[in-house]
Amino acid sequence: MTAQRPRVAIVGAGLAGSLAAVYLARRGYAVDVYERREDPRVAPAGITGRSINLGLSARGMRALQEVGLLTDVLKRSVPMRGRVVHSPDGSTSFQPYGVREHEILYSVLRDELIALLVDAAEAHPAVRFHFGRRLRRLDRERPAITVLAADGTEEEIPADLVVGADGAFSTVRQQMQHGLRANHSQEFLDWGYTELTIPVGDDGRPRVRLEALHVWPGERGLMVAHPNLDGSLTCSLFLPFEGPASFAALTSAEEVHALFRQDFPDAIALMPRLAEEIATHPVGQLVTIRTAPWRYADRVVLIGDACHAVYPFYGQGMNAAFEDCLVLDECLSRYPDRGTALAAFENARRPHTDVLAELSKQNFVELRDRVHRPGYAVRAAVDRALARLLPGRWTPLYTMVAHTTTPYAEALARSRRQDRLLRGVAAGALATGAALVAYAGRRAVRGARATVSHTKPGRRPC
Ligand code: FAD
Repeated sequence: MTAQRPRVAIVGAGLAGSLAAVYLARRGYAVDVYERREDPRVAPAGITGRSINLGLSARGMRALQEVGLLTDVLKRSVPMRGRVVHSPDGSTSFQPYGVREHEILYSVLRDELIALLVDAAEAHPAVRFHFGRRLRRLDRERPAITVLAADGTEEEIPADLVVGADGAFSTVRQQMQHGLRANHSQEFLDWGYTELTIPVGDDGRPRVRLEALHVWPGERGLMVAHPNLDGSLTCSLFLPFEGPASFAALTSAEEVHALFRQDFPDAIALMPRLAEEIATHPVGQLVTIRTAPWRYADRVVLIGDACHAVYPFYGQGMNAAFEDCLVLDECLSRYPDRGTALAAFENARRPHTDVLAELSKQNFVELRDRVHRPGYAVRAAVDRALARLLPGRWTPLYTMVAHTTTPYAEALARSRRQDRLLRGVAAGALATGAALVAYAGRRAVRGARATVSHTKPGRRPC
């Protein structure tokens, strides 16, 4: 039965590749997935060597729901109902994520999620995963891939379609675009990140409110913490690579504590292994990738970070990668000709993921500089109030991005229209206020003149 199916070779069993395997098997393909790392289910300490957790939002949830996996994923995740913002003076404030009760995010461990997706894909008889296989070469014309096993042997695998789900530094992308009129931009942030832990307290209970994303904003550095099912939290500390307050400057426990005392004072008591973790955990880099084309004829296509890596500050990279799987599937269903389907996929997605890249950059500035300022909370409260007053007609940008599946560029355009309207109303209110003040002023002057005229010469009105 499997032999009659068209064959797809997926490179990368990360989030995008594993979910794509589920979708493509359902669409009638015989699926082989090649992953350079070991099987996450037999290497539970973390295929990445780190235990990153991610915020799952509406787009990702919809893509999981479509293939019946959402319930299982939510069982392994912690709901996050809003952000707890920790200020440098040690005070905290809670900012709800959404306007309505269901508008929440879910925190899930990346490696657990991948293991769940691999299990779900492998349950299909037409899917096989090949771990410890690194892509060496892509022949985009045939198409075929050559993979290298740990023992040094190479194997060539012909396929009808190759899917490049091999992440931001994709080999499939490089080799697919080689010699084409391809556009490519790669922008590294001069800040990196490392993973730290807030373990459960000595009483076995969470040290902070669990069902929230915790944020320590700041211009010199920022930290976010996602909750885990066991009551611990995984933090991502973002700092410049170089400079006075930077990863390079954290060379001793004293320096770590001095930086935390100044920027994240209340976090010190929550993180008993802080200095040790900073000394031993790797520092990762953050990159934005914009690229085109995403496909070659009817033979090769890119998905996920391979074609649109974004900074993590909007929490949308995985969600957008999952949405790719859904949209690719819809295009393959709508267009029987695979070349047309792949072109439709790129046209449907690229304008929106380019906007996501911009939004993710802007949110870095927002988290770093604005979230803890009173004006931000006021603006967020106005947005929420308007959304309640004008349901369906006023939706905050964050809500559209995180809690709906409105395409990213449409969400941004709509938010700009709303902002213009708000500015217009505010300007109108100011103009009305100014007119009233001027009117009151004129009346006062007229009244004063009248008073003067009734006053004896030489005497001043009082
Ligand atoms: P990857 O996850 O990078 O997977 C690529 C896979 O390909 C890997 O398994 C890799 O080993 C494999 N591979 C690479 N090269 C080869 C090769 N030559 N041969 C074989 N296999 C290969 N997103 C969210 O939606 N919400 C969040 O809250 C969020 N938080 C984040 C926090 C941080 C600190 C970071 C860095 C990212 C965050 N993201 C978040 C983004 C998210 O992690 C990525 O967008 C997502 O992992 C992309 O999935 P992917 O499958 O496309 O790529």
